[in-house]
Amino acid sequence: MTEPPLTVFFADSMLGRLARWLRILGYDTAYERVVPDRDVIDRVLRENRWLLTRDEDLAKRRVLRGRHTLLTSDALEEQLRQLARELSLDLAIDPHRASRCAECNLTLGPIPHEEAVRLVPAFVSGQQAAFTSCAGCGRIYWPGTHWSDLLARLKRFRGPAPDSALVAGP
Ligand SMILES: [Zn+2]
Repeated sequence: MTEPPLTVFFADSMLGRLARWLRILGYDTAYERVVPDRDVIDRVLRENRWLLTRDEDLAKRRVLRGRHTLLTSDALEEQLRQLARELSLDLAIDPHRASRCAECNLTLGPIPHEEAVRLVPAFVSGQQAAFTSCAGCGRIYWPGTHWSDLLARLKRFRGPAPDSALVAGP
């Protein structure tokens, strides 16, 4: 069995908020709200994903040995900190790693400014030059400071971060 990469995840049903943030940071993160354990295992193995779970019984399953992280906290910030520590996960928004839609997990693509102008509030289109959108749900994302709160807290444990963030926060 191939070792799963440490940047392609399946987040269990208790980790919806973490899943959204991992997507924004650009990590392919599968997540389903309601899913039986056997389907979690099937998908983790079939798609060769690294399982993130809060479920101790699931984490004990032999078939998941060497391919999961058992998260120890319910707090998002602590969960991200654990992944940074144990998987050396980069928590910066990296321009070379395209963000993914927080809802759909699809990679965001750039859209022309004139198209975005028709779809976002005027105060946004007047201030922002670059927009991306999700081909799945049509949500539009743009650099901004609305997510600076969590990013600033993350900065405290991983050093300086770029100023840009994305607006449509989870
Ligand atoms: Zn989407």
